Amino acid sequence: MALITPFQEAAALVREAGGLELDQCYQCGLCTGSCPWNLVREFPVRKLIHQAQLGVIDFEAEYTWLCTTCRSCVQCCPRGVDIIDIMKAMRRVVAETGVSKVPDSLWLAVSNIAGSGNPLGQPAGQRGDWATPPTKKAKTDSGILYFPCCIPAYEPRLKKVAQATARILEAAGVDYKILPEVENCCGESVRKSGHENLFQSLAQKNMQAFSNAGINKIIVNSPHCYDTFKKEYTELGAEFKVIHIVQYLSQLIDEGKLKFSTEVKKKVTYHDSCYLARHNGIYDEPRHVLESIPGIEIVEMPDIKENTLCCGGGGGRIWMDTKKNERFSDLRLQQAKNVNAEVLALSCPYCMLNFEDSLIDFQGAVSMEIKDIVELVCEGIA
Ligand code: SF4
Ligand code: SF4
Repeated sequence: MALITPFQEAAALVREAGGLELDQCYQCGLCTGSCPWNLVREFPVRKLIHQAQLGVIDFEAEYTWLCTTCRSCVQCCPRGVDIIDIMKAMRRVVAETGVSKVPDSLWLAVSNIAGSGNPLGQPAGQRGDWATPPTKKAKTDSGILYFPCCIPAYEPRLKKVAQATARILEAAGVDYKILPEVENCCGESVRKSGHENLFQSLAQKNMQAFSNAGINKIIVNSPHCYDTFKKEYTELGAEFKVIHIVQYLSQLIDEGKLKFSTEVKKKVTYHDSCYLARHNGIYDEPRHVLESIPGIEIVEMPDIKENTLCCGGGGGRIWMDTKKNERFSDLRLQQAKNVNAEVLALSCPYCMLNFEDSLIDFQGAVSMEIKDIVELVCEGIA
């Protein structure tokens, strides 16, 4: 066990790294009870906070890297402690002091982002390859940017989501541009995993690139890009507006700019992602979009909206290994099966990766499709 002494020094490091709210905790334990990890294994959130208060911190423990930043604990804390900031601070101490090791798979993703601007380590020059025919590369003077996120830009399954998004924007007559030559990862999981300097560098590069291109509005597929642009880039001085694609589609439908022509006869359940739902209170728009597609029947799972069950991919966890019997996405898929859904509808690339993985293990036991909402919209306008 790697303990830092004297104890005050360890506690001070966490406070300086952003964990100042440590001192507000009065140890009620509600956070531990609300944490989804405790559905599959032990994760003593209250105890970790107490250890950090005392400065008795085992930075080598696996616990340092478990938090998915789902915000369930923050939402229920009676003292308003931002537990996510404390978890991020502990990771930052590890990343910046080397007191322990960053998990190998996370380190690889972070190194890839530093080297080629995306966590998958794909060539920066291929970032725009998703926009092949029939999706045309948009080159206009528009101040609207479509930023697909690294995963839809490169990962084969998610590329279909980027392509579907572009098709819808074109069908609705939206004048937008893409900037694959100059954009980089938004840096969300970089910051959540404690690599602050790299995050600052990515944010400055992106803000400069967007400013040079005259961007005043950014449409995103990822709730993680949404949250990062909206809150963290704004704190750094960004002035553009950011809108998640489900919000934009909801608007286009209300304005009569997106019309459906084909019935999609499917029983669909919607999984609220943590970063649209708990972090940003966006529950109604995705449901409004789904309700507007003719033929779709919506069924709800037990844990929805602000009580949604995390898929397990936030806080950089998407780049870390999760043992098979510890995946929240398996539990969620079971919930979707229990309400007899034919389609599990999503609005987040991380959720898509996790649920597609879970579905492989469920094959045979579950007959279900995993689709992003934009793919269902595309079917409806075909
Ligand atoms: S819920 Fe809040 S006050 Fe209670 S133990 Fe957790 S952090 Fe501390
Ligand atoms: S943010 Fe979520 S995963 Fe992290 S400690 Fe809180 S409840 Fe657990």
